[in-house]
Amino acid sequence: MIDIDEIRAAVPLSSVLPESAANGTCPFCASGRFRLSEERGFYACRDCGHRGDVITATMKIHDLDFRSAVAQLQEGK
Ligand SMILES: [Zn+2]
Repeated sequence: MIDIDEIRAAVPLSSVLPESAANGTCPFCASGRFRLSEERGFYACRDCGHRGDVITATMKIHDLDFRSAVAQLQEGK
């Protein structure tokens, strides 16, 4: 079975999101009100409202469904 928490712990958000996200630029709407918490493994944008974890980020960036995103993260990509 898929261990979601294990993936969250193993794959840092910064490895999935573009570098600019760490500086507060939203990778989805390019606004500057993007918040990223690496400790909590969580991000949120106050403009487009997109929020989530390393799995939802992978889904959105690579246009994948949940299972495909999890599979990609498990492969360590
Ligand atoms: Zn946004």
